[in-house]
Amino acid sequence: MTEDFNRDRWLADLRSRVPEVTVTEALARQLGGALLVDVREDGERASGTPAGALGLSRGYLELRIEHAEPDRHRDVLLLCGSGQRSLLAAETLQRMGYRRVSSVAGGMGAWKAAGLPVTAGLLDADAAERYARQMLLPQVGADGQAKLDAARVVVIGAGGLGAPLLLYLAAAGVGHITVVDDDRVERSNLHRQVIHADPRVGMSKAESARLSLGALNPRVRVTTVVERLRADNVEALVRDHDVVVDGADNFATRYLLAAATRRLGMPMVYAAIERFSGQASVFDPRRDDSPCYRCLFPEPPSAADAPNCSEAGVLGVLPGLLGLVQATEAIKLILGVGQPLVGRLLSYDALDMRFRELTLRRDPECPGCGAGATFDGYRDLERMCASAG
Ligand SMILES: [Zn+2]
Repeated sequence: MTEDFNRDRWLADLRSRVPEVTVTEALARQLGGALLVDVREDGERASGTPAGALGLSRGYLELRIEHAEPDRHRDVLLLCGSGQRSLLAAETLQRMGYRRVSSVAGGMGAWKAAGLPVTAGLLDADAAERYARQMLLPQVGADGQAKLDAARVVVIGAGGLGAPLLLYLAAAGVGHITVVDDDRVERSNLHRQVIHADPRVGMSKAESARLSLGALNPRVRVTTVVERLRADNVEALVRDHDVVVDGADNFATRYLLAAATRRLGMPMVYAAIERFSGQASVFDPRRDDSPCYRCLFPEPPSAADAPNCSEAGVLGVLPGLLGLVQATEAIKLILGVGQPLVGRLLSYDALDMRFRELTLRRDPECPGCGAGATFDGYRDLERMCASAG
């Protein structure tokens, strides 16, 4: 017969081995150079953590503490919600050879009740390490990283343009990414759509993209929409995002996106590719001087004048470059840094390896944003593109 587990006795036993400090004593020791570690989960810390504390979830403590604090003689204080998880965590650190570990009695509850300093949304250890090189930039820093984390970007198309730009948006820490694509991965996609992989031929592109993004940066929340963007869903799909990135390969989608972003007042990051050349620009209706997509292309060209990749062919690296121009612009828009490609059309010729920039002015006669522009609904735009084809 084993003895019944006695929780009180077990805790008392733990307390006899792990020193405890009050919250006020913890603060004094922190100010004196002790390392205060908040071992609660990311979600718990999001609503506030002791000022200056290192966020390191209990589940990752053993794996990451040595990177965060290699000095086993340093005074280390562990804090959790109520003071129990920190006791267990402290015992673990003792076993790892940390000599001066204490648990903060009462945890965050006591810390707040005593009115001690709290900061909101401090980056946890994973984020601090993951984004370290980017946050070194004064134009980014912790504030910029927080903006990226809070940002919501919708990418239409997980194809040639979407593949590189999705990967880099996720890597940069864009917090919410929506991937809209109704296609499936084909082997003929893989020479350019590097977010997918050979074993995933036949899988939904949105789902395949989600798998790659999750493997690259598990912090990013990815929403997949396995639908074709159409007149009756375009506004619902792009609404509630901060930036719309057009990675589509057809004119109907672009005209729908152009109209929806104009009406909803959202920036649209545009790129298009063909064979060995491509172009990119940003249309931002929040700026009065910004042209729209239809200032550039008032009416869709005929299908013969504008063949798509499956008809005309495309050099695999080409969408990679243009997609990264789009990712760069999206990140700049979120951070509010630099000069966006608004009013400028960047064109790229891979064979000559030449970039050119054309000034793009707002057209007063533009059917999309001019004074006489009328909007007869998204279905009209769909019909217009269908008849052009
Ligand atoms: Zn316009």
